[in-house]
Amino acid sequence: MITCRGLAYRYKAGPLIAFADMTLPQGGVLMVSGPSGCGKSTWLALVAALMRPAAGQIEVAGQSLAGLSAAAADAWRARNIGFLPQRLHLSAALSVQRNLALAQWAASQPEDLAAISRALESLGVADLAQRKPDQLSGGQAQRVALARAVLMQPKLILADEPTASLDDEAAAAAVALMHQTALAQGATLVIASHDARVAALLMPRLALPAGLQTMQLPRLVAMNKAA
Ligand code: ADP
Ligand code: MG
Repeated sequence: MITCRGLAYRYKAGPLIAFADMTLPQGGVLMVSGPSGCGKSTWLALVAALMRPAAGQIEVAGQSLAGLSAAAADAWRARNIGFLPQRLHLSAALSVQRNLALAQWAASQPEDLAAISRALESLGVADLAQRKPDQLSGGQAQRVALARAVLMQPKLILADEPTASLDDEAAAAAVALMHQTALAQGATLVIASHDARVAALLMPRLALPAGLQTMQLPRLVAMNKAA
C-alpha cells in the first residue's frame, strides 16, 4: 500500500515538482506515466525513500517515511522495496550470485545461497549465477536485476522505464515477468514509463474491479531561465 499526500520535491535551483495525492492498495498495480522530464523517476525515488520530499507525507506498507533517518531509510528500503532502476546498477566486478548476495547483506540478512538460486531459478537465469554482468545479454541482465529486486520478497516493486531499450517482444516479456513476480509475492507493483506499450501490456493482465491504476504526471512548467 502506498499513500501520498501533498507531496512535492525541488532539485537545487529547479522548479517545485508537485505530485497529486494518491493511494494504491497492497497488491495493486500502478503505472506512472507522462512525458520525459515530468518527474516519474523523482516520484519513485521519493517513494523508495532515496530522497526526502520538500513537502508532504508518504506512507509505504504502514511505514511513514518522514521520520526515517538516512540510515533507517537504507535499512527499510533494503527489506521492503525491490527497486529496478532504469540503469540496472549491477556491480560489474561481481558475479550474478554475488550481486544478489549484496542485496541480502544490505538487508542485514545472513547470506542465503539457496534463496539466491531460487530467485534466479524463478526468472529462468539460474545457469548464469557465476557470470559477470558484462557476460549477459540485455534481457538476461534485466532478469538478473529483477531477481535481485525481488530476492528479499519486498512489499513493493518499483521499476523505472523497464522497457526503454527493449523491442516489442522483450518489452512484453519484461512486463509479464514483473507482473507474475509481483503476483507470486503479493507485492504492489509500480512501473514508471513514458512507453505507451506498458499500459497496453498491463491492461489485459489485470482483472476488474481492481484493474490497472494510472497516475499521469503533467508536463513540468519550464523554469524561467531569465530569472
Ligand atoms: P522523468 O523520470 O519523468 O523523465 P525526472 O523525475 O527524472 O523525470 O525529472 C523531473 C525533473 O527534474 C526534470 O525536469 C529534470 O530535468 C529535473 N531533474 C532530475 N534530476 C535532477 C537533478 N539531479 N538536478 C536537477 N534537476 C533534476
Ligand atoms: Mg525517468
